[in-house]
Amino acid sequence: MSLDRLYRALKHVAAASCLVLASAGSALGQTDGSERISSGIDAAAERYAADVQWLADDARQGRGLGSEGLAKAGMWMEKQFKTIGLQPSGDDGGFRHVFGVPIPDPSNPHAQKGFVYAFNVIGRIPGNGELDGVVVVGAHYDHLGYGGEGSLEPDSRAIHNGADDNASGAAALLEVARQMQERRGQLKRDVVFMAFSAEERGLVGASNIVRRPPEGLSMDDVVAMLNMDMVGRLRDDKLSVLGGDSAEEWDAMVEPLCERFGLECAIGGDGFGSSDQSAFFAADIPVLHFFTGTHAEYHKPSDDADLINAEGGARVAWLVSDVAGTIANRTGDLTLVKTSDGPQQRMALRARLGTIPDYAGPADGSPGLLLSDVRPDSPAEAAGLQRGDIIIRIGEMDIASVQDYMVVLSEANPGDTAPVIVKRDGEEVELEVTFGAPR
Ligand SMILES: [Zn+2]
Repeated sequence: MSLDRLYRALKHVAAASCLVLASAGSALGQTDGSERISSGIDAAAERYAADVQWLADDARQGRGLGSEGLAKAGMWMEKQFKTIGLQPSGDDGGFRHVFGVPIPDPSNPHAQKGFVYAFNVIGRIPGNGELDGVVVVGAHYDHLGYGGEGSLEPDSRAIHNGADDNASGAAALLEVARQMQERRGQLKRDVVFMAFSAEERGLVGASNIVRRPPEGLSMDDVVAMLNMDMVGRLRDDKLSVLGGDSAEEWDAMVEPLCERFGLECAIGGDGFGSSDQSAFFAADIPVLHFFTGTHAEYHKPSDDADLINAEGGARVAWLVSDVAGTIANRTGDLTLVKTSDGPQQRMALRARLGTIPDYAGPADGSPGLLLSDVRPDSPAEAAGLQRGDIIIRIGEMDIASVQDYMVVLSEANPGDTAPVIVKRDGEEVELEVTFGAPR
């Protein structure tokens, strides 16, 4: 998940309109879902854990753009698609869909130094042709490499393994494909599986698919797009289903399926935001983004495979395979809902302080923005902000959360100054910040 988009995801989690309460116990023995869970989830969790482990191994070098580790991860995804039995649906009869990512020139913000190439991996399970259109299921497989701008520990030159972000989604994509391949005879529509690259650079892989789809795929044919980004940290069976407001039918369709797998789903939010689904929603396609929530290791070198809940990830994958199967066999289109909250009205950050928020928040759960660090040579550092400070007020605005902080950064102008109150070692300290220009 790309950093600047996480904030909207968080907003959606908070605003999600519908919480489905279903205990794992009540689902046992009741539905075919729970029978499948009891008979096969352990094996699925084992496969899932092994796949996450492989993708998040140090040998993949954090799957950073332009690295050999990312290329190998892409080739491995390709091999898995082939083994599962997907039909190649990229360019020139293969699985790959290649695109260029511009390399910015640090000495000139208006120039670029060329391109680095990356590829999405695309495969298909054909339906029986009874219904037109295709269902897209996707997850990105790239991450941050050795860190840098996107990292929340920018000074560390350490491998960022991205086990949750997003080996967890890529492994889930493989499990969805396996589940659906087993039931392929029952599908009325094609299901297209996409492993995206360069998501962390701003959804570049997904945007390239929308802009230049591979041969045989038109965006007009896509009935819905299901995205999995950060699905490896299921806690207390709680799953966010973002984008739940992007089609009228989502709530009624997804709720009972969540229940089937013992998941408490918070379904809601428009289709813009946190990850690759944004690119598809911008093309007027109903979307969902499955998300098990953020954590203290988000975008840090410590996002490792040993913290993954493999049983949870496998269960999310099974849920997604059932949602995809439901759409594949449902007559007619979904009813797209576009709210006025389009990308052009999205919260644009006008100013920057250079703080590194700790998304887990203050340890005692009190309101405020906990800083896990402050970027070197930033306005925050110049103001004397420090690691461990909890920002509780900026100017006139009480800061209870990351969202409040984003509001301040979207309303301030570079050069503005404002008093900041932080809690430091239990004491309130007042500092003055001068906002910088966003990067
Ligand atoms: Zn990310």
